[in-house]
Amino acid sequence: MEIMSENLKKCKVCGRTITDKNNVTGLCPKHQKAANTGAAAVGLAGLGFAIKKFGPKMAKAALKIIKK
Ligand SMILES: [Zn+2]
Repeated sequence: MEIMSENLKKCKVCGRTITDKNNVTGLCPKHQKAANTGAAAVGLAGLGFAIKKFGPKMAKAALKIIKK
């Protein structure tokens, strides 16, 4: 059982070996999911805050920045 060493990565959080060669985050699936959920939550919270403070127009602008 050999895994190509060039694709061998370890999770930044738990040190678990990542076998998914398409992984670009440097996180194991478990922590990658957690990171995505966290980023989405922060993004949504920021967007909600922007809408309250600046109105829908600014929210649209903020959304463009996020999508970049
Ligand atoms: Zn991990």
